Amino acid sequence: MKAVLGKEDYLDYFSRVLKKLEQEKDYVTELDAATGDGDHWANMYTGFKKLTDSAEDLRKENLSGLMKRCGMLLMSGIGGSSGVLYGGAYISVSKALEGTEEIDLETFYNILKAMLESIMSRGGARPGHKTMIDALDPAVNVLRRLLDENQPECEVLEAVKEASRKGADATRSMRAVFGRAVYQADKGEGHLDPGAVTMYYQIEILADMFLEKLK
Ligand code: ADP
Ligand code: MG
Repeated sequence: MKAVLGKEDYLDYFSRVLKKLEQEKDYVTELDAATGDGDHWANMYTGFKKLTDSAEDLRKENLSGLMKRCGMLLMSGIGGSSGVLYGGAYISVSKALEGTEEIDLETFYNILKAMLESIMSRGGARPGHKTMIDALDPAVNVLRRLLDENQPECEVLEAVKEASRKGADATRSMRAVFGRAVYQADKGEGHLDPGAVTMYYQIEILADMFLEKLK
């Protein structure tokens, strides 16, 4: 079996992320209350609720069109940095997926890479600045390296999850350079970055969906 996802899987992915966010409401809200303004959970939940509520319309699009619609829904529907950053990221993914209807691990790389580049160019932050980028960049890097080494797909996916989890964990000792945590006296040092944690959830869920296809 090969790890491949299609449009219906991606719609299922949005529902799974929404469910995970429902489970982690208090935790993520507390994280953003410690270093930001406490709305990160609500922003992400509102965004993924819009995506799941729009499933019928999204289903009519090809994969690239679906991502573009998602980007527009997130951009207009969520407040805060997350709306602009995720909205722009999905619009970049839409461009990366033109002419593609199947998502294999190379395409998974293209998706994560497009998101990373978009978030960095819009927000100006870089790895190590205590943002969502810190859970995404290590996943992109390990995915590229292990695909180039022709490692078995299940090992690639487990490594992507681990890299993203460790990246999110590493934000605890970082001092913020971008985002609201900059305004804290300690620059958020000692606290996890909420955006890195929710980015990790999304990467883990997608990687797990590929892994299910390999069973
Ligand atoms: P806001 O900070 O506007 O209240 P959210 O609470 O929804 O927006 O999102 C906060 C998260 O956004 C932070 O935890 C961080 O991960 C991410 N973030 C903030 N600014 C940036 C940026 N310039 N680049 C990348 N990520 C950022
Ligand atoms: Mg916030």
